[in-house]
Amino acid sequence: MAESSSTKSSLRLAGKVTIVTGGASGIGKETAHLFAKQGARIVVIADIQDKLGVQVAESIGTDKCRFVHCDIRIEDDVKNLVQSTVDSYGQIDIIHCNAGIVSPSDQTLLELDVTQANGVFATNAIGTALCVKYAARAMVAGKVRGSIVCTASISASYGVTTGTDYSMSKHAVLGLMRSASVQLAKYGIRVNSVSPNGLATPLTEKLLDADAKTVEEIFSKFSMLKGVVLRTNHVADAVLFLASNDSDFVTGLDLRVDGNYITSDAVI
Ligand code: NAD
Repeated sequence: MAESSSTKSSLRLAGKVTIVTGGASGIGKETAHLFAKQGARIVVIADIQDKLGVQVAESIGTDKCRFVHCDIRIEDDVKNLVQSTVDSYGQIDIIHCNAGIVSPSDQTLLELDVTQANGVFATNAIGTALCVKYAARAMVAGKVRGSIVCTASISASYGVTTGTDYSMSKHAVLGLMRSASVQLAKYGIRVNSVSPNGLATPLTEKLLDADAKTVEEIFSKFSMLKGVVLRTNHVADAVLFLASNDSDFVTGLDLRVDGNYITSDAVI
């Protein structure tokens, strides 16, 4: 008989070797903590914010978590991240490709700034693709039936009124996830994404120049689901589901964590 969820280990990631990009802050930081709590053998945090990354690793415990400086826009950095993880721990089971940025300034399509758009694409689209590429290569070489989870966004599923380059780059993440899920299925590797609605993290607090409470109030207007505020733990729970064997037959899925996104500015 197949193992039912009630007979599985209560630790969802027992013994797994995991990487979280953008793990120094926000959603990635929450995922890193959850992966460790769920029994991961190691959580490798990859980020460009060295001080914060080291702090997160220390708060989790350096026996379970380590920080690696990695700029996902730089192919050699991503190669080194993956190779150093394999060298130290033998394989990679799970990667949460989560690092991402927003444009320095909001633009409509009529105002599209190519330099800014290229910058956003270099991180969100190409940088994420490099992480998927090298993690998948390691999984294939190690014959690991791994799980890859990307962070896309609700703005990957809808047209937007501003933030055009960001929305385009997150649509690219869905294209990446879907193609990777098709191409890697023959190796038993699953590739999925999570798409959060807007939530308070350092990224959005800086973008909106507001504190967490104000950011939450602003974004709550874009969720139909009332009585609950979207927080990083909700996104991390969705990532855990896709990363773990709880979603053993799920691949090519974009899991929206959006409380039903409201596409117009109307508040209901
Ligand atoms: P955050 O700024 O708190 O965290 C993002 C992390 O990514 C930071 O630690 C940053 O240093 C790191 N990073 C940025 N560029 C990098 C690079 N080139 N190489 C390595 N690391 C890099 O933001 P967050 O809100 O937690 O964002 C995490 C992901 O969630 C992003 O992909 C973002 O687009 C996505 N997202 C966020 C929201 C939201 O409302 N906060 C909504 C939907 C999707």
